[in-house]
Amino acid sequence: MTEMTHLAGLTQSELVSFVEASGEPAYRGRQLFAALQHRRLRSFDEMTDLPKQFREQLTQNAKASSLTVTSRYISADGTRRYLMKTHDNLPVETVFIPEERRDTICFSSQSGCPLQCTFCLTAQLGLLRSLTAGEIVEQIVIALNDAYGVGVKPPRGTNLVGMGAGEPFLNFDSLLKALRIMASPEGLHIVPNRVTVSTAGVVPRILELATIPDRPHLAISLAAPTDELRNELMPINKKWPLETLLNACKEFERTLRPGERFTFEYVMLDRVNDNEEQARQLANLLNRHELKAKVNLIPHNPADPLPYHPSPEGKVEQFRQILESKGIHTYVRRPRGRDIFAACGQLAAREQTPITHNETSPTELK
Ligand code: SAH
Repeated sequence: MTEMTHLAGLTQSELVSFVEASGEPAYRGRQLFAALQHRRLRSFDEMTDLPKQFREQLTQNAKASSLTVTSRYISADGTRRYLMKTHDNLPVETVFIPEERRDTICFSSQSGCPLQCTFCLTAQLGLLRSLTAGEIVEQIVIALNDAYGVGVKPPRGTNLVGMGAGEPFLNFDSLLKALRIMASPEGLHIVPNRVTVSTAGVVPRILELATIPDRPHLAISLAAPTDELRNELMPINKKWPLETLLNACKEFERTLRPGERFTFEYVMLDRVNDNEEQARQLANLLNRHELKAKVNLIPHNPADPLPYHPSPEGKVEQFRQILESKGIHTYVRRPRGRDIFAACGQLAAREQTPITHNETSPTELK
């Protein structure tokens, strides 16, 4: 049996070619794109503006949706975590984070993750597989439909962050294709300027991203100010050590648009990477490379099997002040959705939450 084409992963012009190949006029492809990406429909049955015969023909060799929501968890702070599965039964997680000015959706680029960062729960799954462009796009469609209603325009616009499970830069082509599809004004219309993608430091792809005009914003996960410690916490550092990584960041910085910054993320682990000396080392490292990036300090989100504890608030504040005193703009990220295992580093396909009363039946989500 041939693989069914997942239509949510096609650009508008690919959809046009797809329908033309079976003798349909081009405008049917555009209609289909609008149904999938603008009206955010996930089944052919709902596309009642398309002739029944055309829809029946589509079901022969294509599918409108590919992910199935298995659970939805709602945090006390309003954050929502969706646990879904792929057609081949692998877990995918997406997080919807309501914010005052603009809501954010955090999507996954892989099922599981091949990187062995010692402070991250996703690492424990290992890599199951990379997600397709369609599976990336569909995560956003599902989260938007659940948050606002099917096809309802987000009232305040949407930010996307590629900070869910997986390493986006090890799934670069599908990632970029998904972003291209989502940017389309005839579809979701989420432009790259509203998207931030985070990498653990895949240097060749940082350099490649720098050459792409319509690129998303970049965030880099650092977690340590020295190679010795970073090798231990993020083994990817053995392949691309700090000096190589920061040189690539410098290259990237040269291509920034006016007013644009990029971000370093630094997870704060109690008595591991949070002392004053390490704050000074980090500041010196960034200043030596003359990087004008900002730093986000992420309080560690604890999870049972991980051997770390969050740094006390006072330590985080002290760390922030040292960086600021050396001219580095530093922010402390507020954890969201910790109570439902939706926060940074907590995505590991958990079927439960520490508090289990807030799970909703996803029957209406499918
Ligand atoms: N693989 C990419 C994308 C994941 S982003 C990357 O590493 O950048 C996930 C972010 O959460 C990273 O910045 C990571 O450093 C951070 N993180 C991982 N585990 C965490 C934990 N337990 N607590 C807080 N932040 C964590």
